[in-house]
Amino acid sequence: MTADPVTTRQPVPAAQVPATVRASLSPSRAADFKTCPLLYRLRSIDRLPERTSVEQARGTLVHAVLERLFDLPAADRTPTAAGDLVAPQWDRLVTEEPELAELFAEADPQAAADFLRSATELLGGYFAVEDPRRLEPAEREALISAVVDDELLIRGYLDRLDVAPDGALRVVDYKTGGAPREAFEARALFQLKFYALVLWRTRGVVPRVLRLLYLRDAEVCDYTPDAEELARFERTVVALWRAIEQATERQDFRPRPSRLCDWCSHHAHCPTFGGTPPPFPVGAVSAGPSPDSRSASPVHPGADE
Ligand code: SF4
Repeated sequence: MTADPVTTRQPVPAAQVPATVRASLSPSRAADFKTCPLLYRLRSIDRLPERTSVEQARGTLVHAVLERLFDLPAADRTPTAAGDLVAPQWDRLVTEEPELAELFAEADPQAAADFLRSATELLGGYFAVEDPRRLEPAEREALISAVVDDELLIRGYLDRLDVAPDGALRVVDYKTGGAPREAFEARALFQLKFYALVLWRTRGVVPRVLRLLYLRDAEVCDYTPDAEELARFERTVVALWRAIEQATERQDFRPRPSRLCDWCSHHAHCPTFGGTPPPFPVGAVSAGPSPDSRSASPVHPGADE
């Protein structure tokens, strides 16, 4: 296979995915395989359900509020206005996914109230590091995609893309989780580089800044990639994909225990914890060529990270 990236200015629409493309990969799934091949298998091949945690739901809610905040006129994007969006956005999420309501017992309305208050507190962390009245994002919750190596569609949803007057790009990712940052920072940076690679291949511009916004700590972590690094990263992604294909052919996805096991929902199916994986699904393929849809589940994929 030779590298022949698509260089359109827009994400590759499903109808225009080249016929050579036979698989797709999102940063979350790629990071899963990199973290632990068995985790990738249980999530992407066995597709075992994972119960949404309160922390994930809070992350999804905060992402939704921050997305809607920028619908308001710039001068109105205040902490009060963001706080006013919390309850309506939660109602919307629960309407779209009624199971979310089960996170809180009906008999305990205080727990739900505390949850909404904790989401508002996280938004306080956002306002401590950014003033949204001075920003006009170019994209929010946007699906971006590109084809690499002729056969692989890489795509994912970025939280926010800012474009400066001189055309410089800044990719912003909101982090809401309470897990120790060092446990997830490599994974977070991997995902940001993934978005940077897609933008480079579709717009011909290397993003000037990849920004992680840690809302709980009210901290900003900026990273500046360069073209050479993204070219190396592209080779890494393709190699990762080949490793996934090989593991699928061999039905060989081994556990790789790490600190991240503490946040894994699959101990019952993991030999590291005395569990047994389910029988390998007949005819399993590692992934199809169609882009995934965030609307399939309102729970933000990276909300716990
Ligand atoms: S518990 Fe750890 S080793 Fe087991 S599947 Fe999850 S991440 Fe992998």
